[in-house]
Amino acid sequence: MAEIELPSPIVAKFGGTSVADFEAMNRSAAIVLSNPDVRLVVLSASAGVTNLLVTLAEGKEPEHRAFHLDEIRRIQYAILDGLNDVPVIREEIDRMLDNIAMLSEAAGLATSHALTDELVSHGELMSTLLFVEVLRQHQVEAQWFDIRKVMRTNDHFGHAEPEITTLKELTHHLLLPRLNEALVITQGFIGSEAKGRTTTLGRGGSDYTAALLGEALNAKRIDIWTDVPGIYTTDPRVVPNAKRIDEISFEEAAEMATFGAKILHPATLLPAVRSDIPVFVGSSKDSLAGGTLVCNKTTNPPLFRAIALRRRQTLLTLHSLNMLQARGFLAEVFNILARHAISVDLITTSEVSVALTMDTTGSTSTSASLLTTSLLTELSSLCRVEVEENLALIALIGNKLSQACGVGKDVFGVLDSFNIRLICYGASSHNLCLLVPGADAEQVVKTLHGNLFG
Ligand code: ASP
Ligand code: MG
Repeated sequence: MAEIELPSPIVAKFGGTSVADFEAMNRSAAIVLSNPDVRLVVLSASAGVTNLLVTLAEGKEPEHRAFHLDEIRRIQYAILDGLNDVPVIREEIDRMLDNIAMLSEAAGLATSHALTDELVSHGELMSTLLFVEVLRQHQVEAQWFDIRKVMRTNDHFGHAEPEITTLKELTHHLLLPRLNEALVITQGFIGSEAKGRTTTLGRGGSDYTAALLGEALNAKRIDIWTDVPGIYTTDPRVVPNAKRIDEISFEEAAEMATFGAKILHPATLLPAVRSDIPVFVGSSKDSLAGGTLVCNKTTNPPLFRAIALRRRQTLLTLHSLNMLQARGFLAEVFNILARHAISVDLITTSEVSVALTMDTTGSTSTSASLLTTSLLTELSSLCRVEVEENLALIALIGNKLSQACGVGKDVFGVLDSFNIRLICYGASSHNLCLLVPGADAEQVVKTLHGNLFG
């Protein structure tokens, strides 16, 4: 087949709320059709469907199962009902619903991670089928594409890792030729392992799919359409007058994602940074309101860019008199943590103690549940262990912070009425992190935001 070279396309991803119902799907379709450079569309499941499927995968009693199935059917039928005359697609959705019923019955007998992923993948399979039909009613013939043909992953069901080189090869062979023919609609979040079994990339993984496909196709931009019009100086639910950031660098946005800003899946930016592809974040509810562009370099990067808040942090403090002028204590501590697959987040040390918090980003467990009895027993054989819970991590994100003067006054000058349990500063010039009592967290964020962005 003679391959026509595509001009660098835009990959657009729509999250669950942007395909939640018939109206949302129509708004998203209009966004796609307003820009001819959008050649590939990646979708999440309709809002709520993945959660319902996850619950079914846990293996419910028949009456609970029926309730969840009905709920999924209701969400998808409501979209079908908005469409005119769609017997074929209705049949396909019914076939998917039958599959879901069958798989959840199997999960009721014996559940497994592989079965869970197979079951959960139906959310994205259904939303993409429906979206193709919505586009057809806008007089556009789009092609439905099963992303599992190209999204090859390992077999870590539930949080599978894509194989980037294979993905690129398969994308060029199987997906690129189609983009020359038509607009293509495909699924975020799902993939397949070597034996062909369905996998998933972890909750919220559709952003990551879009970024990986953008990278494989050498896209000129990746558009992430969600329900908030961009990235804000802090969570507007905490500080209502938080300001939208028009342009932010990859580094700053990655810090924000790492430190709890929910807007982008933390892994999303990796492919974009690697391949230097700008990422746009906007709201499909109000596409004309603009959004945030995440890119390599921004003009006039400010000292302070944003404040991120991560709640429910656990602090582990290890004291040992043996540490006094000893060598290798920290190495031993880190060995133990590594053996328990714990990734350390913040850390400060003194001559006889070390305090650290644990990174729970991307996992479903809280830091408290990472602290297993066997870990604590092992650490206790080495030193005295203290555990403090219900703390909050506040990260100030900015540029060249560690080279600037007056940072301390700007930050701590307004916090004299708060207890600051721990400070981390200096390893990265992009952040200054504080740990404060959970109950004070919002007030600290408000106070800092008022002073730094007021
Ligand atoms: N539908 C999946 C989830 O809810 C993936 C995504 O929306 O990104 O986690
Ligand atoms: Mg989502």
